[in-house]
Amino acid sequence: MKKSTEITKMRQRLLDWYDAQGRELPWRVRPEARAAGVQADPYAVWLSEIMLQQTTVPHAAPYWKKFLAAFPTVSDLAHAERDTVLAMWAGLGYYARARNLHKCAKMINDELGGTFPKTEAELLNLPGIGPYTAATIAAICFDEATNIVDGNVQRVVSRIFKIEDPLPKEQKTYRDHAAMLASPQRAGDYGQALMDLGATLCSPRSPKCELCPWQPHCAAYKDGQQTDYPKKTKKAKLPLRRGAVFVLFSKGHVLLERRPDKGLLGGMMGFPGTPWGEAPAAPLEAAPMKRNWEKCEGEVRHIFTHFELRLDVYTAQISEMIEGEWAKLSDIKSYALPSVMTKCLSLTGKA
Ligand code: SF4
Repeated sequence: MKKSTEITKMRQRLLDWYDAQGRELPWRVRPEARAAGVQADPYAVWLSEIMLQQTTVPHAAPYWKKFLAAFPTVSDLAHAERDTVLAMWAGLGYYARARNLHKCAKMINDELGGTFPKTEAELLNLPGIGPYTAATIAAICFDEATNIVDGNVQRVVSRIFKIEDPLPKEQKTYRDHAAMLASPQRAGDYGQALMDLGATLCSPRSPKCELCPWQPHCAAYKDGQQTDYPKKTKKAKLPLRRGAVFVLFSKGHVLLERRPDKGLLGGMMGFPGTPWGEAPAAPLEAAPMKRNWEKCEGEVRHIFTHFELRLDVYTAQISEMIEGEWAKLSDIKSYALPSVMTKCLSLTGKA
């Protein structure tokens, strides 16, 4: 537990550090611009936060720029074809986010007149916006004094307080400790400062404590135990699923199939194949046609959140295109192929 005088000092130290050292990010309004009256655009912040949920700033930034160029407003995004949005998202993974992004834009356009809600509570009613994103948009764009907690923030508070409760089970303990520190003044800058601290100084393996504005307040630093935190429950080994896909070529085209809307990679394009589960006993029965299918050497391995997938890839060439959705190989990048399917295509050596 920390005294309120210490907490006040910590907030000020962090904000001072942020004013001098905070990151410049394309979607960010720096404190000097804020002071001059520039406001963060909730549409731009929302896009960045959804993209950043499972990836890094350098990977997400080009996608963010591409989306803003193609859809400068939330209404532009709402009016886009869903397939166009999915295709532009390809490579960012976790495609449910892209579907929700589009759904959310439509809701804001159709039901809220194209204007983002201004409070955490209202933002939480939108599809694809969870507690972290709602708290972040409300703080950054509307200066609501929310409690922003992501993985970076959890790591910082775990070290400041030496929290013994393990993640991911005991999320509430981390939220409660972060709430103790959260600043009611300059809430948006404070939230971004704390995320920056976690991302740039308080790294998982080699924190730069000598540069940290919270070093005098950090219990783990004091005891030389920084990397012992956060405590985590041991990850169970991911279950293994297997399957087979069929990559059929004809006249410079490849046969695709749209996956069902519901479920993993819902609505995305892929190759025909078996269900994923036990190793298929007779995989060729799921092939789109009888043919001399050739099994590619090796297999595709892909990690999803809840399981590991291994796919055998079969390939064949035909001279006449059968009925189905054929994609020009030279144009394959414009299809919303998820990474696992791109890996399958690569294994054939034909693209
Ligand atoms: S002193 Fe080190 S471990 Fe503690 S918050 Fe700062 S960077 Fe993290």
